[in-house]
Amino acid sequence: MQIYTDCIITVSAKNEEEHRHMSNIRRVEQNNLSKHQSTNDCYVCSLLAHAKDSILLVSALEHGTVFLHQNQSYKGRCIYTFHQHYVNIVDVSSELFKCASVELQHACKAISDVFRPDLLNIAMLGNHERHLHWHIIPRYRNDSNWGNPPWPSEQRVLSDGEYISLAASIREKLGGAIV
Ligand SMILES: [Zn+2]
Repeated sequence: MQIYTDCIITVSAKNEEEHRHMSNIRRVEQNNLSKHQSTNDCYVCSLLAHAKDSILLVSALEHGTVFLHQNQSYKGRCIYTFHQHYVNIVDVSSELFKCASVELQHACKAISDVFRPDLLNIAMLGNHERHLHWHIIPRYRNDSNWGNPPWPSEQRVLSDGEYISLAASIREKLGGAIV
């Protein structure tokens, strides 16, 4: 099922000065694109290229995209990933990292508003997918790993309709225009 969610949220562009700042960052990103060009063998790049067709898509923000994680054993678990194919955090400019951090925090707030977790775990690992991304993992006092790291966890796969509903509920809190 296709979801039309080119949600462009300019979370930091609240005034002209910030607009200019963000434009400069976009130019830097574009200049760096050839250096960090996505590769055909990157699963995350492939996912991003077909994001509109994914029932896991929550929102495409200015610098990164939020997806539901397929495993919903921790209800509301999401991934925030950079649009660009960065492998190493040291290659990301400080400016871009700050902007991405703001978007990550907005995603966390939206997830918190919807699911009211007792804690949020944020993790950047990169063991399997070498495309920088954060895991946003809502934790609950009654979850089986409470008080410990979230892994390993049981697998909980939802129906297409349930993914679509969860994604829509987070997207509603994130706000922004749907193009
Ligand atoms: Zn990639």
